[in-house]
Amino acid sequence: MKSGKRWEAELVPERRERILIVDDEATNRYFLETALSREYETVLACDGFEAVTLMREKRPDLILLDVMMPGLSGFDLCRMIKSEEPFSEIPVIFLTALDSVEAETEGLEAGGIDFLQKPVNPLLLKLRIGNHLELNRRNRLIREQMALLIIQKEELERAYDKISQIATIDELTGLRNRRFFNSSLTAAISMARRHGQPLSVILADLDHFKLVNDNFGHHAGDAVLAAFGRVLRDTVRAEDIVARWGGEEFIILLQNSDAPSAVLLAERLRVACEDISLEMHGVTVSFGVTELKERDDDESFLARADRAMYRAKREGRNRVAVG
Ligand SMILES: [Mg+2]
Repeated sequence: MKSGKRWEAELVPERRERILIVDDEATNRYFLETALSREYETVLACDGFEAVTLMREKRPDLILLDVMMPGLSGFDLCRMIKSEEPFSEIPVIFLTALDSVEAETEGLEAGGIDFLQKPVNPLLLKLRIGNHLELNRRNRLIREQMALLIIQKEELERAYDKISQIATIDELTGLRNRRFFNSSLTAAISMARRHGQPLSVILADLDHFKLVNDNFGHHAGDAVLAAFGRVLRDTVRAEDIVARWGGEEFIILLQNSDAPSAVLLAERLRVACEDISLEMHGVTVSFGVTELKERDDDESFLARADRAMYRAKREGRNRVAVG
């Protein structure tokens, strides 16, 4: 992000600014050129058509425009300039002998930023030109900063999405983490209640997992956890939420599922682990299943699943118990 000081520095023009002087009378062109050429680079055009050519070639920072000219009038030329990107940003000051409210109105409506009567005082002209050029530099800078801000905002949003995703994923298994599960649980419970649908949870705990770490090292332990994570991912439905609850514990939230169908799924998971026993280093899994009851809150719902899982352990492990 650019600091305030930098911002001010960018308002100082990098080069001499260029002024296009458009007037059909040579004496007027000469007068203006003489008045301005010390401070500014001047480009002279004797009619509207030459002005258009020079504008495209020289990209002036400001245009001093006579109104009454043969061919294209100053008003018509101004309307042309204002309708053509990127020239529409160039400030146009009318300099004319016309002295009427109507003329001034037409000039400002055509897109002119100022309307001065001839003969103009050179000092006043320079002050006005200076003001308009500075305003234009500020506007340009604001537009650039806005464009930059939009880009930065998009980058920040992308980074934020990535961080939020990382913050909800368990690194080892690629499953959701406990934090994500907890934040989804409350919403899932109220949705189940609103739609009168059953909601079940399966708590899974790897049996004697500590032995794998102790006997074969942490790499082997991690491999077992990852293997079970894959079993879970391959078995559950897309709408179910699977998370690593912590350590060797995993949890699955089954939307629109009652206890009997949750038991079936748990049983499938149990068998799938036996099928890849080698990969699991012989580790089996105990499951606790429960369905949401009317008086349940998040805590009592999960506590019942936990008790069921411990009963499965007590009853000999590698089994599914319902709470
Ligand atoms: Mg004229």
